[in-house]
Amino acid sequence: MGCCNFCNGDDRSLLPDKGLTKLHEPGVRTLIKWATCYLKSKKIDSPRLTAELIAEKIIGKKRVWFYIGSEISVDKEKALLFKREIRRRARGVPLAYITGEQQFMGYKFFIPPGVYIPRADTEVVVEKCIEILNRIANHHSPIVIDLGTGSGSIAISITKKIKNAFVYAIDISSLAIKVAKCNAKSNKVQKRIEFLLGDLFLPLEFKNLENRVDLIVSNPPYIERKQMRFLPPEVKKEPDFALNGGKEGLNFYKRIIPESLKWLKKGGNLVLEVGYNQADKVKKIVEMKKNLFTPVQIINDLNGNPRVVVTSKK
Ligand code: GLN
Repeated sequence: MGCCNFCNGDDRSLLPDKGLTKLHEPGVRTLIKWATCYLKSKKIDSPRLTAELIAEKIIGKKRVWFYIGSEISVDKEKALLFKREIRRRARGVPLAYITGEQQFMGYKFFIPPGVYIPRADTEVVVEKCIEILNRIANHHSPIVIDLGTGSGSIAISITKKIKNAFVYAIDISSLAIKVAKCNAKSNKVQKRIEFLLGDLFLPLEFKNLENRVDLIVSNPPYIERKQMRFLPPEVKKEPDFALNGGKEGLNFYKRIIPESLKWLKKGGNLVLEVGYNQADKVKKIVEMKKNLFTPVQIINDLNGNPRVVVTSKK
């Protein structure tokens, strides 16, 4: 037995056009039922929620309206578009690239294909930055650097939470910088972030920030090069340059850690996201500059993996 009228356990009935061709203007509930069943058969997580979120995007109504009163009918064009997007999701295109958005720290971010999708794990990184910056913000306006800002999720969340912080947010991708600027505007913090295009600290030369920065944060690419081809299909659709951390996945830490000393003030903090098995290796890189950094603190993510490495300049 299948999970609904459309599938009956026969996989052919799950083909995107089967079961719907009979209907001229299907109602939204019918479409969602079909899509849930189809996505489930393709082993996509949260099939119903996925179908509803894609429907929200195409129909332009919040999903509660799909279930209130009589069924909303969907014109043929939109129904076709809906089916096309459901098929893309079934082929492993991330949901964020289909709906064009992702929530992070409770804020909405525009995320087109080609830009790294912010993860819930990184919220632990941001929480730590906020804890540190809250203490500083009582005395002066903190200066922050966000390396590899991507969609701007870390920089924007920090400026939303710390009202007197100023962030320099850098990325090597011009698409990321365009998208991050757009996200800063939609979240109304564009006046407190300067977005810069370039390689790590390079665009900060001539900004007169040496020894003045309160906090440097980064979620750099950290996946081992040889692991890249084993990533889940969804992750493989994200840009390689946002994920690939070189031979051991540590390339960026080897650059960020020593270079951060030039920019941090005395007591300034460095907060780094690391891969689930990298905390000790990154700690060792910090400890190579023993006399320059205070002891390393390691914080776990929501799954209990050591995920955040924190240190400060002596
Ligand atoms: N957290 C991402 C993943 O494993 C990797 C992010 C990164 O390389 N910074 O999918």
